[in-house]
Amino acid sequence: MALLDIAVAGCGPAGLAAAVLLARDGHRVTIFERFDTPHAVGSGLMLQPTGLAVLRALGLDATVIASGAKIAHLSGQAGARKVLDVHYAALGRRAAFGVGIHRASLFGVLHDAAIAEAITIETGRPLRVTELTGSKRRLLFADGSRSAPFDLVVDALGTRTPLAPPTGHALAYGALWANLDWPDDAGFRTDTLAQRYRRASVMAGVLPVGTPPGVSRPQAAFFWSLRVDRLDAWRTAGLDAWKAEVAALWPATRPLLEQIDTADRLTFAAYAHRTLAAPAEPGMIHIGDAWHSASPQLGQGANMALLDAYALALGLRAYPQVDAAIAHAVGLRRRHVRLYQAMTAAFTPVYQSDSRVLPVVRDLLVGPLSKLWPGTWIQAAMVSGLIGQPLGRLGLGSMP
Ligand SMILES: Cc1cc2nc3c(=O)[nH]c(=O)nc-3n(C[C@H](O)[C@H](O)[C@H](O)COP(=O)(O)OP(=O)(O)OC[C@H]3O[C@@H](n4cnc5c(N)ncnc54)[C@H](O)[C@@H]3O)c2cc1C
Repeated sequence: MALLDIAVAGCGPAGLAAAVLLARDGHRVTIFERFDTPHAVGSGLMLQPTGLAVLRALGLDATVIASGAKIAHLSGQAGARKVLDVHYAALGRRAAFGVGIHRASLFGVLHDAAIAEAITIETGRPLRVTELTGSKRRLLFADGSRSAPFDLVVDALGTRTPLAPPTGHALAYGALWANLDWPDDAGFRTDTLAQRYRRASVMAGVLPVGTPPGVSRPQAAFFWSLRVDRLDAWRTAGLDAWKAEVAALWPATRPLLEQIDTADRLTFAAYAHRTLAAPAEPGMIHIGDAWHSASPQLGQGANMALLDAYALALGLRAYPQVDAAIAHAVGLRRRHVRLYQAMTAAFTPVYQSDSRVLPVVRDLLVGPLSKLWPGTWIQAAMVSGLIGQPLGRLGLGSMP
C-alpha cells in the first residue's frame, strides 16, 4: 500500500474516524478544523449496529457503549395509540441494540484516539476551497493562506461543506434540542427512545444518552419539532406558553421542562436533504454529511459517516492509485447511501410535515401492521441501518 499525505477537513465523526483509520494504516494525516478548540456541537444522537460495527473495528466500541445508554426499544405514541414500536430484539440476534450518546462523548472517544495516533490537528482553520495542481491538492483557508500539497483531501466538513457544489433542499421542519438531567422518577425507561406525536406537525422525544464527560449524572436529550418559519413566533410567544403546550401533549416531560429556565437551553437544528451525485473528484473524496445529509428521522447520519470512513480506508488498502481507491470507496457505499437517503426522504413527512393524511395512514395502518411479523423485523432492520447489507460489503460481518 502506498503511504500518502492526507488532509482530513473536519473534526466531526466522519473526519475523526477516517483520520484514525488512515493513520493506523501508516498514512501521514493532518486534520483541519475551523474551531479553535475542537468540540461537538449539538445534543444526543443514536448509534446503530452499523456505526457500532465500525467503532468495534477501531477498538472503541466498549468505551463508547460505556459512556452512552444501550437502547433496546423505540416507542412512539399518538394520543393513546402506539404507532412506533421497534425492538432491536426483533432482529433475532441477542447482540442487537442501539446506543443513545451525547455528541461530546462520541467526540471525546474519537478525539482521544486521534491524539493517541499522534495525528496533527490544526485548529482555527476555516476552510474555503481546494485547488488541484497536477495530482496534488492544497487547501485554501478563509484568511487567504494555503496548505502544503496533499495526495488526498478528505472532505468531512458536514452538510454545509464549502468544498462541494450546493445541492438538495432545506426542510420545512427542524427541531429544538436540549441536554437535560435524566428525570429519575418520571416513568421514562433508560433503554428506550420515547416519542409523542400530534398529527405529523408535532413531535417530542426523550433519548437517554448516558453520562457525558464533565457531567456527574446521566443525561437525556430532549427534542421538539418546529417549523423553521415558526421559530421567531416561538421565541415571541415565550417559554411558558411552549412549556404548557409540551406538558399538555406529554405530562411526563414536566421534570424535564422545569430544567429549561431560559430559551438559551434549547438549540434549534435545521435539516436539509442533499446527496452529492459525484462524491469523488480527482484527489478528493466527500464523506459523511458532506456527501449525504438528511433529517435525523431514521437516525443514520453519524452511522453512515462512520461507514464512509471505513470504506475509504478499505479503498486505500485495495488500490495504490488515489483516484482508483476513492472510486472503490464510493462504490462500496453508494447503494446503501441511496437506499437510506430515499427511505429517510419517504419517512420524514410521515413524522414531520403539515400533512393531515400521512399521520392518519401512519396511525391506522402502518402502526398496527408494524407490530406483526415481518413488519417487526423490517422496522428493526431499517432503524439499525442494516437494509442493503452495508456491513457485509465492508467485511464487517452482519452485526456487531
Ligand atoms: C438534531 C440532530 C439529530 C441527529 N440525530 C442523529 C442520530 O440520532 N443518529 C445519527 O446517526 N445521526 C444523527 N444526526 C446526524 C449526525 O449529526 C450527522 O450525520 C453527523 O454529525 C455527520 O458527521 P460529519 O462528521 O459528516 O459532519 P459534522 O458532524 O457536521 O462535522 C463537520 C466538522 O467540520 C467542521 N467544519 C465545518 N465547516 C468547516 C470549515 N469551513 N472549515 C473547517 N472546519 C469546518 C465542523 O466544525 C465539524 O467539526 C442528527 C443531526 C441533527 C442535526
